[in-house]
Amino acid sequence: MSLAERDHNIIWHPYTQMKTAALPIPIVRGEGALLFSEDGKSYIDAVSSWWVNLHGHAHPYIAQKVAEQLQTLEHVIFAGFTHPAAVTFAERLISILPQGQSRIFYSDNGSTAVEVALKMAIQYWENVGTPKKKIIAFRDSYHGDTFGAMSVSARSAFTAPFWPYLFEPHFIDVPVPGNEEETIKQLEVFAIAGDVAAFIYEPLVLGTAGMVMYKHEVLDRLLEICQQHNILTIADEVMTGFGRTGRTFASDYVQHKPDMVCLSKGLTGGTMALGATSCNEKIYEAFLSDDKRKTLFHGHSYTANPVACAAGLASLDLLLLPDTQQCTRHISQRHQDFAIQCRTLPKVKEVRQQGTILAVEFEADGTSYFNKMGDTLYSFGLEQGVILRPLGNIIYVIPPYCITDKQLDKVYQTILGMQQLITGTRYFEPPTKTTLHD
Ligand SMILES: *Cc1c(COP(=O)(O)O)cnc(C)c1O
Repeated sequence: MSLAERDHNIIWHPYTQMKTAALPIPIVRGEGALLFSEDGKSYIDAVSSWWVNLHGHAHPYIAQKVAEQLQTLEHVIFAGFTHPAAVTFAERLISILPQGQSRIFYSDNGSTAVEVALKMAIQYWENVGTPKKKIIAFRDSYHGDTFGAMSVSARSAFTAPFWPYLFEPHFIDVPVPGNEEETIKQLEVFAIAGDVAAFIYEPLVLGTAGMVMYKHEVLDRLLEICQQHNILTIADEVMTGFGRTGRTFASDYVQHKPDMVCLSKGLTGGTMALGATSCNEKIYEAFLSDDKRKTLFHGHSYTANPVACAAGLASLDLLLLPDTQQCTRHISQRHQDFAIQCRTLPKVKEVRQQGTILAVEFEADGTSYFNKMGDTLYSFGLEQGVILRPLGNIIYVIPPYCITDKQLDKVYQTILGMQQLITGTRYFEPPTKTTLHD
């Protein structure tokens, strides 16, 4: 039996309708931006394996640091104990995080980083003696798949069965160009009404919404209003962190700094599962008390796992190299050039770009048409040896920073091929079953 068949007999995959999904592609090795399947085919990982990979697969430097850590200390309980990797990583994170962040609380993925931030915000107001109940969030946002994170995320088909169990935030529109004033008004109404504990947002780019982008100037105004009305601010940088948007954090583009920042995905360069929530001293101090009830009672078995922290430290070493910084600037420039070319093409509705993130939105004639089209585009990409997962009618690129010029060329060529499929100037017969999930 093949590996894919053995998988099919026993594994339940994420976001996957197991009845209709094609067999998964068995990947046996990775190197740089490439993944190699069992049958020897190579794929350019243009989506950084769900947005996590920064420096390429099986990076030798990260591998070495992880191996050393594994042979020294693999894990230790993080209540009552600590270890060098957690402390050093926290120190280094604080040194690069937006100004004002002073404490790191570790967890183990992006959703838990968000849960921790929400709990910090709600309990903060409880602890200071003025409880506030409401959270403000963007209507199309995505903050994770656990219940708190789902609550502050878009109400979509993905979460529909759970709607009765989710708490209700105040949703405001994403301030995309042209909608800025409307969003500011919406936020002001909620802010003036009061009882708002926090505003959680994906800064500058909403990933799962389809790489929807808005300007840093409007984010600054939203954050200013929050500060004026004593609303805590939570930047969910799980996707935007570590250079994706052209600066280390998307929050680096704004003057008003968040009270809390959620990190995961690129936090370990895409090597290990790790989450972190940072906060400023104001939040932290509200939990200091002789009254034990003011403690943040939250933790995970693998909190601050030493191997994950070692991977994070190694990834930071690589991220801060001048070469890597040069690579992210180069990718941004190439994306910009491609965007200019792509914008003029038929059926291309919009091309968005922020740093190393590029999104091409095609004109959608109807959603069901595009679900089918999405499957075709996905299969077409795979056939070309490029992993590009459409979000509806949107194709996006968020590559590892080590991607070569030739590989980028191939990714762009594949997107142009997709545009030709959509305009009918090119024909491609997709396999009967495809593996597209979301
Ligand atoms: C992926 C993502 C999350 C959830 O992270 P997981 O590690 O998948 O739980 C939260 N927020 C944003 C912005 C994300 O992109």
